[in-house]
Amino acid sequence: MKKEQLKKELKTLFRSMDFVSNNFLDDKKVNKKDFQTFFNIYQQLGLAWEFLGLQCKHWDGYKKIKDANEVCKICGKVKGIDESHYLLPIKGLKKLGAKLMPDSKKTFKNKKEAAIVNDTIDFHGATVNVDVHNSYKSSLFKEHEISVAADRIVRLKESGAECWIDQHLIYVKMNKKGKKPGKKKYGGFPWEIKRKNLKNFPIIFDFDENYKFLGLTILR
Ligand SMILES: [Zn+2]
Repeated sequence: MKKEQLKKELKTLFRSMDFVSNNFLDDKKVNKKDFQTFFNIYQQLGLAWEFLGLQCKHWDGYKKIKDANEVCKICGKVKGIDESHYLLPIKGLKKLGAKLMPDSKKTFKNKKEAAIVNDTIDFHGATVNVDVHNSYKSSLFKEHEISVAADRIVRLKESGAECWIDQHLIYVKMNKKGKKPGKKKYGGFPWEIKRKNLKNFPIIFDFDENYKFLGLTILR
């Protein structure tokens, strides 16, 4: 919404809120049942205010109010207060949050204090989680307290497959339906695995003429 249109919408909304408040909520003669109805209308107008306010870029700056706070001259939102909703365009790129990285050399007492962001979105059926944290002490194994390194971890889950990308590695976990994995789990570089066993792995390596590794494809 453009600035002028938003200003107009908000002005009308504030007028409606004032009307309900002055004529019905402050009126001692209104009976209980009617009061509840007008109270609900006021709450719904408040919700509309919240969503209209998401479109405000606070173009005209802030003005001081009583409690040492500053509010936007257009939408009336208090400066510096976190928004509780996001507004995303239906068409085009949806951008949610900025790219954050670990920002301290300190090792924090626990995971909570080290957290910078840990947020998940379900996007058209695919799940993406971003976990950015500084270093912290983990007492997962009681006797051995270990330090977890600062990291930025992005996880994508789609159709049973899971992709984990952090600052040191990219890991893909397969989930083949109907085939239960064995009890033991091994890992190894391709040259450590016998050729006949390698044939079980549906992986194609991409490389250039100098055998520089370019990527890989896993067939499902
Ligand atoms: Zn504003």
